[in-house]
Amino acid sequence: MAKLLIFVIVVAIAVWYFRRQLQPPSRHRSSDHGNETTMVRCAECGLYLPPANATPRGGRWYCEKHR
Ligand SMILES: [Zn+2]
Repeated sequence: MAKLLIFVIVVAIAVWYFRRQLQPPSRHRSSDHGNETTMVRCAECGLYLPPANATPRGGRWYCEKHR
């Protein structure tokens, strides 16, 4: 009975490990796509930058120079 339990655990770990191996490429692809969609454009100079570096004002985004 204990051997069966160990076998089940080993299989579960193997499946988990296999799924983890498969995930990075698709996750990388989706994150790349996410970066494209999350980039915002400065309403003043048209510069594309991530929202973390941009300042929202009046429903528009502005870069560090134009905020
Ligand atoms: Zn700007």
